[in-house]
This record gives sequence, C-alpha cells and structure tokens, in this order.
Amino acid sequence: MPSGRTHEAINLTALGLLSAGYLYGRTQGYGPPDEWAFAFVGGYLVGTFLITPDLDLAERRVTAKRYWGVLGWLWVPYGLLFRHRGWSHTWIVGPLSRLAYLVLLLYLLGWVAGGAAEALGVRWSLNAELERLSPGVLWGALVGYYVSQWMHLIADGIAPDHAFKRRASGRRRYR
Ligand SMILES: [Zn+2]
Repeated sequence: MPSGRTHEAINLTALGLLSAGYLYGRTQGYGPPDEWAFAFVGGYLVGTFLITPDLDLAERRVTAKRYWGVLGWLWVPYGLLFRHRGWSHTWIVGPLSRLAYLVLLLYLLGWVAGGAAEALGVRWSLNAELERLSPGVLWGALVGYYVSQWMHLIADGIAPDHAFKRRASGRRRYR
C-alpha cells in the first residue's frame, strides 16, 4: 500500500501530464475555458493533500490530517466512522462521504463565523459567498477533486467495482 508521500508524488505526476495535455489542447483551440481548468486544479490539489481517502485513519496519524494543522482533529470522527479501505475507498460513495462531511464541517464553522460576524456588526454569510461562485467553477473543482480521489484508488489497486465485489463475497460468506 503506497504511503501518503508516494500518493502525493503519483497524483502530482498525473496532474503534470494532464496540464501538459490541457495546454497543448489550448494551443490547438480545444479544451474547457481557463476558469474551469483553474478550478479543476484547485479541487485536485485539495483532494491530493487535504482530503484523501486515507482520512479514514484520522483517529491515528495520517499525512493529510497533518496538513490541517490544529484543525486536524476535525477529521477524527470521520476516521472513527469509516473503516480503513472500506466504503471510504470506493469510487463514488467514498469521495462523496468526505465531501458531505466537509460540507457539514463548513456549515458548522460558517454558522459560528456568521454569528461572530453578526456580533461584530459585519454582514457575512457562507451561503452568500457560495452563491457568488459560478456553476462552471464548482463543477471544475468537483471533477478535479473526484479525479484526485480516483488516482489514489488506482494507486491502491482498487477497481471501480470494489464495493460490489466486497458485498458479493460477504454475502457468500454468510450463506
Ligand atoms: Zn488509501
């Protein structure tokens, strides 16, 4: 199983290749607009360093948790909730579980920050900030994030039908 550092190196190499392909495509007049591409890279880097499938080990030491610094403990409940290389390491539900967890965290933090801003007499809300982002940027970031998670799973040797196989073998065991 690759270490956190190896995963980062693999992901960054893939990003380098994708970027080269994108830049070449742009010179030929193909490819999505730059705004979309920047969002993709942003989502991809977040997924490579900050929000990785291995956060299912966040109750212990894990590379991604370290990057969160003093906020690393926020991922401990996720680590306790998800078994290592279980649902967290599936292709669709796994990345989605971390996204849902992050949105929950952001809303809790945004709610606290919004309350603090109100107490200071400043008008600020997380919802208003999110509404300012264009759909293209949100989609670009989402796709970038998902591709980074899939690179991790490929490096772990996990196929897209992993969960189904696991469930099928589990069923066989209990029969
Ligand atoms: Zn992993």
